[in-house]
Amino acid sequence: PESITIQELANRMAEKGADLVKALFKMGTPVTINEVIDQDTAELLVEEFGHRIQRVSDSDVELGIEGDDDAPETLKSRAPVVTIMGHVDHGKTSLLDALRGTNVVSGESGGITQHIGAYQVKTKNGDVITFLDTPGHEAFSEMRARGANVTDIVILVVAADDGLMPQTIEAINHTKAAGVPMIVAINKIDKPEANAQKVRERLLSEEVVVEDMGGDVQDVQVSALKRTGLDELIEKVLLQAELLELGANPDRPAEGNVIEAKLDKGRGPVATVLVRKGTLKVGDTFVVGAESGKVRAMVNDKGQNVKVAGPSTPVEVLGLSGVPMAGDQLSVVENEARAREVAAYRAEQKTRKRTTSAPTSFEHMFSALN
Ligand code: GDP
Ligand code: MG
Repeated sequence: PESITIQELANRMAEKGADLVKALFKMGTPVTINEVIDQDTAELLVEEFGHRIQRVSDSDVELGIEGDDDAPETLKSRAPVVTIMGHVDHGKTSLLDALRGTNVVSGESGGITQHIGAYQVKTKNGDVITFLDTPGHEAFSEMRARGANVTDIVILVVAADDGLMPQTIEAINHTKAAGVPMIVAINKIDKPEANAQKVRERLLSEEVVVEDMGGDVQDVQVSALKRTGLDELIEKVLLQAELLELGANPDRPAEGNVIEAKLDKGRGPVATVLVRKGTLKVGDTFVVGAESGKVRAMVNDKGQNVKVAGPSTPVEVLGLSGVPMAGDQLSVVENEARAREVAAYRAEQKTRKRTTSAPTSFEHMFSALN
C-alpha cells in the first residue's frame, strides 16, 4: 500500500511533525509521529496546511487520449453514482442489500444478481441510481488516490445506537476532501436504544450540519433490518442528484474507471468498469492503465450479456490483455496499434518509476509540494 510516515510528510512539507499530529488529532485521527498514514490522509494534511498537491500526470493529456470536455449541448442526464461509507458494523452492507432488494424492479432480472462491485437500482418512478458495492473509505481513498473521483454522492451510515465512531469521522473527512455531497443515513432506528437526535448533535462538532439543525446536509432515519426509511433515502439521493445536474455525453468514445478487476479462471482478465462518458460497445478497442484490449463481451450487474453500456453504467468487461488496477482509467481508442502504443508507454513508465533511485510510491503521487 502507498504510505508515508507523519515525519516524512512533515519533512517534505517543511512543517513541524508535531503540527501535523495536532491537525490529525483535530480531524479525529489520533496518531504518533512515526505512524504510517495512507495517501488520502496525507492529501488531507497537505491541503489542510495550504500546500498544493501536484499529481504526476498519467500523461493521458500528453498522449491525447484524455478526451476534451464535451460541449454542454451534448450532455444528457445520467444516473448518480453513490458510495456508502461509515463505521464497521453500522450497517453498510445491510443497507446496500436492503436498497437492492426493495427497489430493484422484481421479475426483470429473474432474481439473479451478480457481484461485480457495483450495481444499479431502478426506483419505482424509473429513476436509476448506481451504487458502488465497495463500502468503506479504503476503496474510496484508493480510487481517489488514483485520480478517479467516481462518486457523486456519499451516504454516510451512522448507527443510532452507537453514534459517531472513528471510521465515521474518517469517512466525513474523506468525503469533505473529495468535495462530494453527503447524505446521513441514521441506521438501526428500530433499536430501543437508538438516539437519532444525539447523532445529529454530535455531527455538529464535525461540522456536518443537518437540515434539522439549520444546515443543508440531508439526513434520514432508516432501518436496514426492518427496511424502513428506504424510499425516503432514495428520494433524498435523487434530490441531491438533481441539484448536481449530472450529465454526460453518451455519443462519443467511452471513458470509464475500473471498480475492481480479477483474473477469472475461465474467462481470463475481467474488469468491472464504470462508464463515465460515452458508450462502451462490444468490439471497442481500449487502453486501461497499462493494459489494452478489445471488448469481447460485457456482462451487467444482473448477469446479462449486453452489447452497449452508457454513462454511469457498471459492466464487466472481457477481452483485456491483463488485470488492471482499481481506479485505472479506460479509454476507447481508434485502433489496436494505438492501444498497444499507449499501453506500452504506460507499462514502460511504470517500470521506470519502479527502478529509478528509490522513490517511494508516495512520490509518484506528489511530484512536488510547494
Ligand atoms: P457493515 O460492517 O457496516 O457492513 O455492517 P453490517 O451491514 O454487516 O451490519 C452489522 C450488524 O448490524 C449486522 O448484525 C446487522 O444485522 C446489524 N444491522 C444492520 N442494520 C441494522 C438495523 O437497521 N437494525 C438492527 N437492529 N440491526 C442492524
Ligand atoms: Mg460490511
